Amino acid sequence: MQKYTDSDKNIQKAAPCRLIDKLKENRTLTKDDWVRLITGRTPELAEYLFTLAREERHLYYGHDIYIRGLIEFTNYCRNDCLYCGIRKSNTHAARYRLTEDDILSCCRTGYELGFRTFVLQGGEDGYYTDEKMLRLIRQIKKQHPDCALTLSIGEKSYDSYRQYFEAGADRYLLRHETYNVLHYSRLHPPSLTAAKRQECLWRLKEIGYQVGTGFMVGSPYQTAEHLAEDMLFIKELNPQMVGIGPFIVHHDTPFKDQTSGTLELTLFMLGLLRLMLPKVLLPATTALGTIASNGRELGILAGANVVMPNLSPTSVRKDYSLYDNKICTGDEAAECRKSLESRMETIGYRIVTARGDSLNLSERKHLNLGGYNNV
Ligand code: SAM
Repeated sequence: MQKYTDSDKNIQKAAPCRLIDKLKENRTLTKDDWVRLITGRTPELAEYLFTLAREERHLYYGHDIYIRGLIEFTNYCRNDCLYCGIRKSNTHAARYRLTEDDILSCCRTGYELGFRTFVLQGGEDGYYTDEKMLRLIRQIKKQHPDCALTLSIGEKSYDSYRQYFEAGADRYLLRHETYNVLHYSRLHPPSLTAAKRQECLWRLKEIGYQVGTGFMVGSPYQTAEHLAEDMLFIKELNPQMVGIGPFIVHHDTPFKDQTSGTLELTLFMLGLLRLMLPKVLLPATTALGTIASNGRELGILAGANVVMPNLSPTSVRKDYSLYDNKICTGDEAAECRKSLESRMETIGYRIVTARGDSLNLSERKHLNLGGYNNV
């Protein structure tokens, strides 16, 4: 049997290590290099990557962790994404909507707990007309003028996005999910397309939102080439935030027999994102905390700098069930915040009371994409 020495290992490690150095220097890679780096990853390489990623993160954000108060205000959805537990065809989902008063009360509780960003997330629910959303946005901004408001309510017309922005919404989260057209079509019904999703992101940016995109790691049929394309798209979009988390199986979806994504690959992708966009806001997501009890801590140590505790009333928490075994479905907002605070302290980081705007600010792009209003 051939003997495996330390110097052989160094030779083996050298090529992917050089790719990480190249990424740090150029802040991007070619598609082939992304694929080589992702497929050639090893635990040693990951450690090297995380060390560099933490250095970048400390340079711009120190040891601060920004918190976002997540309010999951409706689980009604008109869409049928194959991976999602609140897809419209899931007749086992117990549907709920929070009232305007409920939402404002979540914000008040959050404010007292030190939150200065609220994220309104929900399925694409026609009940919340533009009129209702605009009233809600104005109310929140009136009651909490020092807070940032993030929307995450899916694909809307250009006009709706513009009106929400003018009413006071500051940021918008819309994961592109996967850049590759064919892969996108295997995860979504024919009514949803990768092109439309991406166009929404460009339009949000044009309007002036701080924009967040992202993807699931380990979604069914995903390859290293798909992840490479995701990285290239994100580089081009240059968003202010990138939310990634593992795909996790939900038992009442067509993907119930698929395999969930891994902690290991999600952490590696987080490290790569931090090196590619050093100033971006990068959450250690709830999904990461769901596949491993210390997943969010490891996410921070891989380069993330944001956590998003839940502010929704406990009575509805378990019903916003995107995937199985979601964590924090029973805790009150105050408990969630306290437990995250001590988890972060254990690894040497501190939660701060701040709006936490992205330092990855970019010029507004003025694109001329005719016909978008009909989207
Ligand atoms: N409707 C809005 C939208 O389309 O952006 C926001 C709600 S949607 C449920 C929020 C995110 O949940 C999606 O972008 C998707 O990436 C994630 N998600 C849904 N099902 C998931 C699953 N099974 N595992 C991991 N993440 C999931």
